[in-house]
Amino acid sequence: MKLIFLGPPGAGKGTQAAGVSAHLGVPHISTGDMFRSAIQNQTPTGLEAKRYIDAGELVPDSVTIAMVKERLSMDDCKPGYLLDGFPRTVEQAIALDDISAPDAVVDIDVPDERLMGRLTGRRICGKCQGTFHISKLDDEKVCPVCGGELYQRNDDKPETIDTRLKAYHEQTEPLIGYYKGLGKLRTVNGDGQLEDVFKAILATLE
Ligand code: ADP
Ligand code: ZN
Repeated sequence: MKLIFLGPPGAGKGTQAAGVSAHLGVPHISTGDMFRSAIQNQTPTGLEAKRYIDAGELVPDSVTIAMVKERLSMDDCKPGYLLDGFPRTVEQAIALDDISAPDAVVDIDVPDERLMGRLTGRRICGKCQGTFHISKLDDEKVCPVCGGELYQRNDDKPETIDTRLKAYHEQTEPLIGYYKGLGKLRTVNGDGQLEDVFKAILATLE
C-alpha cells in the first residue's frame, strides 16, 4: 500500500501516521522528521534546509524531491510507504507520480482556527521524537513515554506558524484538486479525538 497523508500543519498527520504505518506494515516517512535529523547531523541537505524551515517556508522542491527519491529506493519501501508531509507542492506530486505513484491520498481536514492552538501547544521529545500537546501533559518538560526532555520546535512560534499556514494554503492545498482529479482522494475529519480520527482513516482505506 502506497499512501499519502495530506493536511495543514497541526492536522495530526504525524501522530496518525505512526499508528497507521504500524497497522499497514509500511514505513512512515516524514519529510519534516528527515529534515530535522539532517539539521541535527549537519548534513549538506540539513544545512540547506535549515533557513527555510526556521522561516516557516517550504524547502526548495529540488532538495526535497532528491531526498524523498533516495528514501523511497530503500529496501523497506518494497511493501509500500506512508508519506507524511510530502508532496507539499504540485511539482512534488508530479515528481512522485514518476518515482512511485500513490494508491490513495488521505486528506486530514481541520479548520484553520483550531491549528494555531495545536501548533503553539505542541512539544517534541528530544529522545524518542514523540509529539505531545501541553493540554495532555502533567509536566510540560518531561516525555510521558520515555522520560526524555520535551522541547518546542523553533517553527512552532506564532509568527512562523502564520507563514506556514500561508504556505499550506498557497502551495499545498491545490494538491486536493490534483488528487481528486486522479480519483485518489479520501477526506477524513481530523477535528476529533485521536482514536476516532484513527478509526475514520482505517475505514476510508477499506
Ligand atoms: P508540519 O506538518 O507541522 O508543518 P513538518 O514537520 O512536516 O511540519 O515540516 C516542517 C518544515 O519542514 C516545513 O515547514 C517545511 O519548511 C519543511 N518541509 C517538510 N516537508 C516538506 C516538503 N515536502 N517540501 C518542502 N518543505 C518541506
Ligand atoms: Zn520520549
